[in-house]
Amino acid sequence: MAIVRCEGIVLKTHALGDTSLIVVTYTREYGLLKLVAKGARRTPSRFGFALEPLSRSRYVVYHKPDRDLHLVSQAEVIDPVGSRLADLARLAHAQAALELIDRLVWGEEPHAELYDLLAAALGGVTRAPLVSLPAVTLAFQLQVASLLGYRPRLDACANCGEAISSRRLFSPARGGLLCDRCAAMEPGTVTLSADGLAGLTLLLSRPVAEAVDWDALGEVRRSGEILRVVEAFLKHHFQRFQGLKSLEMLRSLPGFDAERDAPCPA
Ligand SMILES: [Zn+2]
Repeated sequence: MAIVRCEGIVLKTHALGDTSLIVVTYTREYGLLKLVAKGARRTPSRFGFALEPLSRSRYVVYHKPDRDLHLVSQAEVIDPVGSRLADLARLAHAQAALELIDRLVWGEEPHAELYDLLAAALGGVTRAPLVSLPAVTLAFQLQVASLLGYRPRLDACANCGEAISSRRLFSPARGGLLCDRCAAMEPGTVTLSADGLAGLTLLLSRPVAEAVDWDALGEVRRSGEILRVVEAFLKHHFQRFQGLKSLEMLRSLPGFDAERDAPCPA
């Protein structure tokens, strides 16, 4: 057993016994960690906001390499993100970010870039104008997929590498745009609008923190269309991804008009 210090973002918690808590946190140093926090559900809790979902905190942990659960002895909040999210839309976007990490990442495998991306997305969700929230969420989803080795290919046919079709044919299964020849043989291909493709390209190529300003500038149009394509893409490439509960709720909120913006089957 070793006493370790690490920084993490709380993804979710479960009750344990009468007064304790299991805390699932994504840490910069160890990846996904499951912590046991004894007495954390007593009020007032000695952990304060540090173990609340969405909080970014520092922990002191008794780490046993061969165990699934580790005891947290101290936790100190760096940023109580959840307490700063005043409205439902921000909360739903922040939850969607946590849910995505929870679905796509498992085990104690550090990935500092992914951790920083999550922190940047939560920062964006707290301060973006409401109209930009879909851009922050979509940029996060695309960039998480990229960091995990599945970057949608938009510069050449994702199947054969030839020049892409001028009809902007995207295949979630092949993981990108296709040429006319490959698209003819690929079921499930959708036609992206010009705005949809421009938005997708921008979301993939610029830091999440900048997404805060994009929608305000009118740069990411048709977020509903992009969301559908990104979800279909994630479902094809990540077995554990079956859509996000928090995004179901988001569809009913302004910003993601998924029906109006639905991509057309090719
Ligand atoms: Zn091709």
